[in-house]
Formats: sequence, structure tokens, C-alpha cells
Amino acid sequence: MARKKLNLNIADVENRERRLGTIVTWNGTASNLVKSSDYESRGNGERKKCGSQKGCKLCKDAGPFTQGTSCSGSMVDCQAGMIVDAVLIQHSPIGCSVVHTAMNSGYRLGCARRGHPIENVKTICTNLLEKDMVFGATAKLKQSIKDAYERFTPKAIFLATSCSTAIIGEDVVSIASEAENQLGIPVIPLSCEGFRAEHWTTGFDVVQHGILRQLVKKNPIKQEDLVNVITLFGTDVFTPIFKELNLRVNFAIDLTTVESLASLSEAATTITFCYTLSSYLAAGLEQQFGVPEIKAPQPYGLSGTDAWLREIARVTNRVELAEAYIEKEHKRVTPIIENFRKKFKGIKGYIATGSAYAHGLITVLRELGIEVNGSMAFHHDPVYDSGDTKQDSLRTLVEGTGDIASYFVGNRQQFQFYSLLKNEKPDFIFIRHNGLAPLAAKLGVPSICISDENSSIGYQGILNIAETIITVLQRSKFNQILKNHSTLPYTDWWLEQDDPLILTKHPELLDNLKKEKKEWQKVLV
Ligand code: SF4
Repeated sequence: MARKKLNLNIADVENRERRLGTIVTWNGTASNLVKSSDYESRGNGERKKCGSQKGCKLCKDAGPFTQGTSCSGSMVDCQAGMIVDAVLIQHSPIGCSVVHTAMNSGYRLGCARRGHPIENVKTICTNLLEKDMVFGATAKLKQSIKDAYERFTPKAIFLATSCSTAIIGEDVVSIASEAENQLGIPVIPLSCEGFRAEHWTTGFDVVQHGILRQLVKKNPIKQEDLVNVITLFGTDVFTPIFKELNLRVNFAIDLTTVESLASLSEAATTITFCYTLSSYLAAGLEQQFGVPEIKAPQPYGLSGTDAWLREIARVTNRVELAEAYIEKEHKRVTPIIENFRKKFKGIKGYIATGSAYAHGLITVLRELGIEVNGSMAFHHDPVYDSGDTKQDSLRTLVEGTGDIASYFVGNRQQFQFYSLLKNEKPDFIFIRHNGLAPLAAKLGVPSICISDENSSIGYQGILNIAETIITVLQRSKFNQILKNHSTLPYTDWWLEQDDPLILTKHPELLDNLKKEKKEWQKVLV
């Protein structure tokens, strides 16, 4: 049986949990998760539903409450909101757009990294109020489209929905189509209301679905030296690498232009820094436009980078150039890595990031001789859209570098993160989302919040990571002092727990705690 193709005929994307069987909670060894995921069968289209086997059971039992998480809308902001000549209109109450401020600093940073003029994001919120929830807000959205067009003369406009617009049934698809006819530019509806998907990564797919449907050229003229690079707003580390192979970079989606996105269908291949991010767009380009995506280990560590480059070389017919580059880079970095390995003897690291990216970073750490026994991945996709086992990044990690004893899948719950760190006691941690970094710091663990996702890629990426760790280890004492002067907002009972999923397994404990609290309140009164 073949895996089902992506359906670009409908405006809405199929959620990750339905399409890929994505889960947000799991605890065990990485090797058990590899086994339970059964990537190969899912890739063949044989296992579609989460929960069809024992290992996925927890996805339906994630816990009695959520302390804090993200929303698909935020992922839309960090992609559609960062295209340099497009505008994103978020049709929502202003609270949903609070993330625009964070995205603005990311965008400005990205502009500086990529050599663009530094400017603010072009995002607008329709600011829905109570009366809009009663009487509808179609007029507000139409006015916002008009304002966006007059103020920014964009090459495309994205319209993002929200929980509120879904509740009142705003017909954003029809408004987009009407505006597109009036303005003569693509107006792309994005169904990204937070309650629609269990995990926020569906937001990536929503934007990529819209781009595939409405921006990508349907009759492309192929460019044999063009490589699509699906990434976020990190540094351009790809151009120097691909220059060695006589290839040119076409970035998607952040900090690029609408014209570049239209050219995605003209490229020779598609690559990425993370299969979590690229899964939908890369598979769609291959299925609908014949652009082959690279199916290989991700470009982390010597082994991953070698295999990744060799696959790019095979697909683009540049084998000799790639081999020469690999040899040259091995000669350059191997002695430096050996030196770092001596320094990192006995050091223990921990990774808390999105899933495929975590797999890449653990590979780098282990090649540097750092012990990694624990990791928190913010979700887990048992399969990616290509269905190709060469993209099974967790299996590649486990088979290439060994098992991870404590592999936790959790959508950034701080209270669970506390238990994980308490049990693991790492010397440092890498965190991709900065909300968790202060907690680690208060526990005395030096934390590195990786904002530049591309800094760890390729041969130079190994050295960048090593230098960062050397720097952060120098502040171990500072973190110990911070720990000694910090208090945490949890009860003594929770601070004593070792199992981060105890409330998932025994939700009745929460009732007991509530009763105890009431008894105490009575005493206090
Ligand atoms: S979950 Fe809903 S209400 Fe919350 S930010 Fe996302 S769209 Fe807005």
C-alpha cells in the first residue's frame, strides 16, 4: 500500500495528528519509541491512526491539565509573517497577536543575519471585540485587507484565522477569494485556529499548504542549480556550502520574497535543517511538482553531514565536487573535534527542542564525546510526509549513536521539565524555546537558548556547538549561585516527585490535592 498523497485541492490542511499520528506525550527509551512508531509501516500507508498500537497510547491521555503551550497561529506568524514582501493579517482578538512582538524581534534579527535592511514585521491584527463575536467581523477583515494593501503594497496577503473566528464561522476563504480578484495579488486563507490541532506544528503545514496551492508556479521552468532550503530565520550557512557544489540557494519561507516562493517548483531539489519543519512543503513539491526532496540523515555531525551531502550530490549530479568538499572539511575539522572531545570527557548534556532538531543536536553532542542520556522533544511525528525511512531521524540517531535512556515527549510543560532535569542532572542544556531556559537556570543548570537554528549545521556547526558549550560551562558557578537564591512556584509534594507523568497516570491525585487545599483553606479562615 502506498502512503496517501497530500491533498492540495482543499483549502484546509489535514492535522498532523491525523496525517502523521503525531503525539505530544510519551516517556521511555528512544529505542522503544522508534519501535512503537513503526515508521516503515506508516510510511507505506499501513498504519494511519495514532493509538493503533501500545506505544502510542499516551497521546490520548496527555494529562489532566496544560500549564502552557503554543498555538498553530504562532507558527503561522513565524513563517507567513516573515516573508519580506507579504503581509499577514491575523483575524483574531488582540491577545492572539501578542506573539507578534516576539516575532518582530526574531524578524529584525533575521534581517541582520541575512543582510536585509532591518525593518519591522508587516503583520496586522483585526482586533476582534465582544460585539464582533456577536455580529460578525467580516467588514473588519475586508477593511484590514484594504489597509494592508494601501500601506504596504504587498506581493501577497495571508489571512490567518483564530479560535474566535472559527467559533463564529467567519468565511475567510470566500473573503480571500473576493480580495484576490479585486487586488490581483494572491490572498491566501490559513486555517490555523489553535483548538484545531493538538500540536502547534500543524501551523507550519498550514502556511506551506497555502504556498503550494496559491504561490508556487504551476508550469515551472526547471533550474538545475537551484536548491530549496526550508528553514526559519537563522543565518545563511548554506550559501558557502553550496557554492562548493556550484549550487544556488532558494530560501523558504522566512526572510524570502513571494517571487522566490513561486520559484520553489523550479528547483533541482529541496533540503532542510529539520524534517519537522519541512515535511509538508518538501513532500508537496515532490508529489505535485516533481522536485525531489533529499531523503538522508539530517546535516548534523560528521556522519550526518557526509550522508546528506552525498545524497544532494547524487540528486544534482555533483558527486566529485561533493567528495572534494567532504575531504577538505574532514581534514579541517577532525583534529579540532578531537581536541574538543578531550575537553568534554565526563560532561553530560541535555536537549529540549522540537523533535527532529533534537535528534540532530544529540548527534553533534555525542560526536563531541558528550554524554546524552536524556532529552525532551516537544512532540513526536512517527512518520514524515514522504514516508521514506531515510528521514526517520530518531532511528538514525539511535542506530548511529546509541539509545537515549530517558526520552521524553512533552509539549513544553514546565512542571514536567522540572522533574526531568532533577532526575538527569546535566552539566548544561540546549533549549530551542526560551520559556524553559529560566527554569533550567534556576535549577543551577547553565542553559543555551538556540535562536540561530542554522548555527549547528554541517562541519562548521560541530565546532560552533563545541565553542558554545565551552562558553556556557564557564558560568556553572553563576548558575549554582542563582539556584541557591531561587524559589520555584511548586508545592513540596511536586518537588519530591520523580515521575513527570504521575498526574497523567493518576489524575485522582489532583482531586486529593484539591481536597487538601480546601481543608487548609478552612483552617486558615
Ligand atoms: S489558541 Fe486560539 S485563542 Fe489562543 S492564541 Fe491560538 S488562536 Fe488565539
